[in-house]
Amino acid sequence: MLPHRLFSKKLERAVYEMLVKEFKTKISFPECLPTSQRLTVELDLSGDIRAVLPYLNAVLEDTDYDHKNMILQFRKEKKRVILYPKKIYVATFEDRAEAQEFIRQLIDLINDTYRNRKHIQPKFTKRRRLHVLEIFKYLPGTNCGECGLPTCLAFAAKLVSSPEDFSKCSPLLTEEFKEGYDGLKKLLDNLE
Ligand code: SF4
Repeated sequence: MLPHRLFSKKLERAVYEMLVKEFKTKISFPECLPTSQRLTVELDLSGDIRAVLPYLNAVLEDTDYDHKNMILQFRKEKKRVILYPKKIYVATFEDRAEAQEFIRQLIDLINDTYRNRKHIQPKFTKRRRLHVLEIFKYLPGTNCGECGLPTCLAFAAKLVSSPEDFSKCSPLLTEEFKEGYDGLKKLLDNLE
């Protein structure tokens, strides 16, 4: 049977001289997939990392941040990471070696971000990545090409990374598609 500790006791007690100084790891298998061999990792932190969450929210892509409850979620290298003030969950890993490397990098990311916080503008709002179909449903759907792209779906894909370009769809600015305009504007306004 595998030991439930991911790193040696000595390493887990290593003083990082930064925000995350000490942690304990616990590995488990997803409850919803009892036969899975993929690992999930839980870290119990001796200190409190809430101070770094708004800074991580600012530097990371595709985050979902709840500042009131101090929960930051994001994806990194296809892993789902959830940070709480004194706990971290990461899912899932092929094996222990992959988990160890990822956790080392994650701790470095937290500590480096904390150390550089004076140069980072913290973000306290939720920020999440738009999805193509979420945008597409508000577009006229006529594939007229006036936006410079051949289809509304292609334009929706472009807006995922450049949402400020939405007014390039001139039909959307007309009275006929006002409902779509209002819906899309609301979606974009609620991103930050
Ligand atoms: S201009 Fe608007 S309606 Fe026309 S193809 Fe582009 S997104 Fe679709």
